[in-house]
Amino acid sequence: MKPTTLLTVLIILGMIIGALVGQFLLHGGNVDSTHWTKAAGDLILIRPLKLLVIPLVFFSVVAGITRIGDPGKLGRLGGATLVYYFATMLIAVTIGATLVSLLDPGSLPADVQEAVRATGEGAFSADTSLQAKVETKTMGGTWTNILYQLIPTNLLAEMSAGRPLGIIVFAIGFGLALAAGGKKTRIARDFFDACFEALMTLVQWVVWLTPIGVFFLVAWTVGRIGLMELTGPLGGYMGTVFLGLLIHGLIVLPLVLWIFARVNPYQFMARMKPALLTAFGTDSSSATLPVTIETAIDEGECSENASNFVLPLGSTINMDGTALYEAVAVVFLFQLYGIDLEFSQLVLVVITATLAAVGAAGIPSAGLVTMVIVIAAVNGSLGEGVQLPIAAIGVILGVDRILDMCRTTVNVWGDAVGARIMTRIAPDE
Ligand code: ASP
Repeated sequence: MKPTTLLTVLIILGMIIGALVGQFLLHGGNVDSTHWTKAAGDLILIRPLKLLVIPLVFFSVVAGITRIGDPGKLGRLGGATLVYYFATMLIAVTIGATLVSLLDPGSLPADVQEAVRATGEGAFSADTSLQAKVETKTMGGTWTNILYQLIPTNLLAEMSAGRPLGIIVFAIGFGLALAAGGKKTRIARDFFDACFEALMTLVQWVVWLTPIGVFFLVAWTVGRIGLMELTGPLGGYMGTVFLGLLIHGLIVLPLVLWIFARVNPYQFMARMKPALLTAFGTDSSSATLPVTIETAIDEGECSENASNFVLPLGSTINMDGTALYEAVAVVFLFQLYGIDLEFSQLVLVVITATLAAVGAAGIPSAGLVTMVIVIAAVNGSLGEGVQLPIAAIGVILGVDRILDMCRTTVNVWGDAVGARIMTRIAPDE
């Protein structure tokens, strides 16, 4: 058996056993008793991966840019990548908004609606950390924040805070300067190349922790939420998100890949399995990044030049799954509160959900928090009397983790498809 096949089998086994342990041993018990599973998952998988992310972002972008060298080619790659990110996110969010309008999962019997709203608002008011995060989110604030992150003043501060955008910008500039330096900077170019190779070896070792880490994380999620939640009053909402993600992940992105790269998309998906499963288990595009880069280059036949640029940037910016989910979630909540949205308001949802997904970091629950931007935008377009309370987010809080696992998988899949397409623009010489 090939090592990657073995790894995939082990990860899947870890998930299945984790789900069984979660459902039958942990679910329904004391919530505190599930905390150790979360701590074990963090220690075994999330923390080692996160430890690798910042050095990897820095070295992979510098190594990638110096290898491409030519600023003209880089400009083309950068432009095409951004167009790809935004176009696919817009498609995803449109699918979400269309499905949720057609399926109308929020129109439940009045008494059920009432009960779901009350439980949700109660959950929100009990969660002070969520309230604090939500309060700081505004559209203007989020965009200034992104711009500030793009032009930081202290690289080390960005590194220690784990903010990748500024590091990427610096690494692009530094890589270009190294490439422009000709003979004088050759040693440094070789140095970055070598460090990148060494980091990838380290990633290959850490990747073998994935099955155990995923086991604990899935056990924790299922233990807290329980599989039966899927059939409760929120089942329709969850089903709509799942359906949208399936359409986008299994039809739209494969089609885009086939059209622009003439690659068999399902074969490529099979090769990217370790990364997709890690995304599902960890709930974080950022933490998955080391695995995504490793799998894309070693298994997915993506060029190092394209992967080193498209994947680090994509893990924070390109979030098809999150964009789709935000549209479904927001429209669902409005439906649940009996507020009908007009077509123009749906367009507003499409635009703001795309921007809110760009603003979401590649960490668990980020999409849940940036969703308030979309709610605020739609509220602004409604009359004074009818407004969706922010506390409505509490309604979907309990089931968010499962949806987060699925949307993160689609986020990473979108990045991988981008890297494969951009391999045509930036092949390895
Ligand atoms: N967890 C997602 C990610 O890391 C972001 C989100 O939608 O919450 O890609």
